[in-house]
Amino acid sequence: MHDEIEQDLYEILGVSRNATKSEIKAAYRKKARECHPDVAKDDPESERKFKELTFAYEILSDDVKRRDYDMWGLEGLKRHGGIEYAGFTTFQDLIDMFFSGPFGSPFRRTTTSSRVVIRGRDLEVPVSLTLKEVLSGVEREIEYERLVLCGECDGTGMMPGTHLNDCKECRGTGQITTRRDNFFGTFLTSRTCRICGGTGRVMTHPCSRCAGEGRVKKVENLKVHVPQGLEDGDHLRIRGKGDDGVNGGEPGDLYVEIRIEPDSRYIRDGETIYTEVEVDMVDAALGCEMNMDSLDGPIKLAVPPGTQPGDIIRVKGKGLPRRGGHKRGDMIVAVKVLVPKKISAEERKILEKLRGLRSENVQR
Ligand SMILES: [Zn+2]
Ligand SMILES: [Zn+2]
Repeated sequence: MHDEIEQDLYEILGVSRNATKSEIKAAYRKKARECHPDVAKDDPESERKFKELTFAYEILSDDVKRRDYDMWGLEGLKRHGGIEYAGFTTFQDLIDMFFSGPFGSPFRRTTTSSRVVIRGRDLEVPVSLTLKEVLSGVEREIEYERLVLCGECDGTGMMPGTHLNDCKECRGTGQITTRRDNFFGTFLTSRTCRICGGTGRVMTHPCSRCAGEGRVKKVENLKVHVPQGLEDGDHLRIRGKGDDGVNGGEPGDLYVEIRIEPDSRYIRDGETIYTEVEVDMVDAALGCEMNMDSLDGPIKLAVPPGTQPGDIIRVKGKGLPRRGGHKRGDMIVAVKVLVPKKISAEERKILEKLRGLRSENVQR
């Protein structure tokens, strides 16, 4: 707006630079009536003129803004953020801004919606899974509380056989109208009726079961199919199993939040499972086939001869499947070689003999 205004604000109002406040007010009032877009319908410029006029009045009727304008011109007004009108696009915006007050704009359009349709809330229920259940997928029975339509009143909130009556507060209009006098004349301003929420209708006999809410709490039992390979924090969406909607609104959804129980034996990274086995030093040296646990139960692990502490053995296909898939990742087994702390006399004899043999081998 600043950029659009070329004329002097005093000229726009048609007053002298020494004009008093009441002269400015009188000038605005007179001119506003002439170029109000609802009056000057034939003038395509009327809206722009009215905006400029109002802008000029807004500035010059305010002592601080008028002083800033007198000293620095339109530039001086920039520090008054609230009067930067450049952003408004419609006449209504300006009217709203200019008349914003406890009663709002006299021109404000009010919408009187009847019963408001609201979608039901989404709900979230956690489900804990073991890694074995991640592997197999699982059917899980869950129990949670949701709001469902009241069966007594079919969700209307009213006792069967009763009706909505006109609201006495607003005489069924949904609006409370207030007269307001200002220097333009008399304006009627409206606000939404608080008693009926703007619907104009009130319930005289609320349903005894749901107390007029239209919905009641229900404990829901649901069988949920949890597919294979889910990860901690994944969500399964079950459509329509959140809260029922209000006034015919569609129900919300249920989100089953997947939580994976920690397992001290395994670390999971996507499809890969990390674990550890302890291997006796003799088995590590000679190689062996040993029993170990896996997500599939006991398996045979082939430890090759000469296995070192910290070596890794990859067991193909004993990890987890991808989300919803079947092809499985691997299990990575870290080998911990155990050196015995106590040995029997016979073991000592054998180990000493082994030492003798190995030192000969080294010398050769
Ligand atoms: Zn009302
Ligand atoms: Zn009910």
